[in-house]
Amino acid sequence: MVGHTSSVAVPGDFAASVKQQADIVRIVGEYVKLRKSGAQNYQGLCPFHQEKTASFSVHAGNQFFHCFGCNAGGDVFTFVQKIENITFLEAVRMVAEKLGIPLPKLTYSSPEEARQARRRASLLEIQERAGAFFQEQLKRPEAAHAREYLHTRGLNAETIAGFRIGYAPESGFLLRDALRGQFDEETMRESGLFSWKDKGEDEPPQQMLSLYSKFRNRVIFPIANEQGRVIAFTGRTLASDEKSGPKYLNSPETPIYSKSRVLFNLDKAKEAIRRLDYAILVEGQMDCISVYAAGLRNVIATSGTAFTEPQARVLGRFSKKIVVNFDPDTAGAAAAERSLALLVSEDFEIKILTLEAGFDPDLYIRNKGANAYTDALSRSQKYFDYLIERARVLHPVRTAEGKVKALNYLLPHIQRLPSRIVRDEIAGEIAHRIGIESKLLRQELRHAATTRSTAQVNSPVATQLTDAERVLIRALASRDLVHSPQTSRQGHDPDFEPARQVHYFLTRERLHEGLASQALIDALLTAHEQLLDPVSLPLEANHRRLVAWVLMEDHEPLTPELLENAVRSLRKRVIVRRLDDLQHQLKDAEGRNDAALSTRLLQERIKLRRAMGSAAENGI
Ligand SMILES: [Zn+2]
Repeated sequence: MVGHTSSVAVPGDFAASVKQQADIVRIVGEYVKLRKSGAQNYQGLCPFHQEKTASFSVHAGNQFFHCFGCNAGGDVFTFVQKIENITFLEAVRMVAEKLGIPLPKLTYSSPEEARQARRRASLLEIQERAGAFFQEQLKRPEAAHAREYLHTRGLNAETIAGFRIGYAPESGFLLRDALRGQFDEETMRESGLFSWKDKGEDEPPQQMLSLYSKFRNRVIFPIANEQGRVIAFTGRTLASDEKSGPKYLNSPETPIYSKSRVLFNLDKAKEAIRRLDYAILVEGQMDCISVYAAGLRNVIATSGTAFTEPQARVLGRFSKKIVVNFDPDTAGAAAAERSLALLVSEDFEIKILTLEAGFDPDLYIRNKGANAYTDALSRSQKYFDYLIERARVLHPVRTAEGKVKALNYLLPHIQRLPSRIVRDEIAGEIAHRIGIESKLLRQELRHAATTRSTAQVNSPVATQLTDAERVLIRALASRDLVHSPQTSRQGHDPDFEPARQVHYFLTRERLHEGLASQALIDALLTAHEQLLDPVSLPLEANHRRLVAWVLMEDHEPLTPELLENAVRSLRKRVIVRRLDDLQHQLKDAEGRNDAALSTRLLQERIKLRRAMGSAAENGI
């Protein structure tokens, strides 16, 4: 038996020799931003798990890496294997190629590994050949309309060659005929380049001849992996009739191409992204090519789909700063919104570049020139400034109602920020900019923002509720709790019926008199008496929302202690009020020299103070 990832399988100890020549710091440094942290040590953010403080270390002397966060570790090959998601032998080969060491003939540690590696190699090879074929076709007389199209898009020969743009001819058989001598049928079918008509199961196996190119009469944009190897294509149709299929056609997913992992142009842009420490993100390939051709080399694109987590991880290896240039008001709004949400939660520092209405980056550069675009870029806005502005436009904040709506528009965005400190800062900033003067509402916003517990900031009515009121409303509205007794101090208590107990205290003592929620509590008390379901009561809209909000809130389970505390705090409130009254009456009585009244009032005060003390100490 030969070990799965052992170097035994490599002839002449080739792997050991590659390892000796490789510098792990340099190779890891291609993927992770490292900074020197000791004589032999380098640190950076781990590419294998999400983190904000660097726990990923590389040791130059001993040529190994280790992450103290997720415990990933090993030598240079382990690293490349893990980050590229390839086999050990492919990693050896890749590192050797990086170092310019010529490759010996490799053998594989298992037939399966050999098969997979061969499969990937031939898939890469067929994409490469197809790419060359498309490029060649673009030069032919039949491709005049394709060249004309590229010309109108402002692409010069240099750009066309640099991006290896090509043309897929009208005939679906030319590509097949160009490749069939060089690749077996399985590779042809797996390549994603061809379609075929499936016959019934009983039919003899399909022959090569039934294959025809998916891409016909289209301008072809190759999609490369991070190493610059072609792995897929996008074809833009040149036909105007609808039968010719979608305007943009992409290769399907294959063993070498996964749409959600690839960022268009990253191979060309990665050095510039690292150097400038930011990336420009645009929506489509054409935009990306225009921006790149305009001299901004740190531009990448998604292909009209939302940014994915793997893409964010890949990009994050080069920089965590990004300027997003797509229009959130257009058809792609939902995808743009999801992309931004993801980038926020992955802790990117985001700026938004908004061009005048009707302009995408490509059109903008063609009409106004590269310098105008660079200017616009330098004026891009911090994401939260941009959002606040949007909130203020959508919900004019002159009224309290408008302010609450604006806050609720912003809240989900704030809550995505991974850092609690940043959330708090931004909540403060937003309260200031929207002009929230209410202390309660500010607290509510900061609470919601920092704990990420509620999805809504509540209108001033709800925020005026005390903890005690919330508990009592919950108890009265939680009918099902009658049948699911909670654990109490004494252990399981089958007789604990929160609604009944609250009803008892409140109707007897009228403790809720004068509270903001008095009307609502009265309605709930009546519902309890009539055995009505509180959730379906004909409450006024405000009250209904309040009940819903109180029930939805994250909270600890209702227990007898919680109820006791709530009742006790209402009792104290009543006493405090009564004491306040007494104080005034006393002053009055003393002013009028009414000794009898004064004495009576003083006695009552002593009683109340005693009651207050016992309320605090003994509970109900
Ligand atoms: Zn880690």
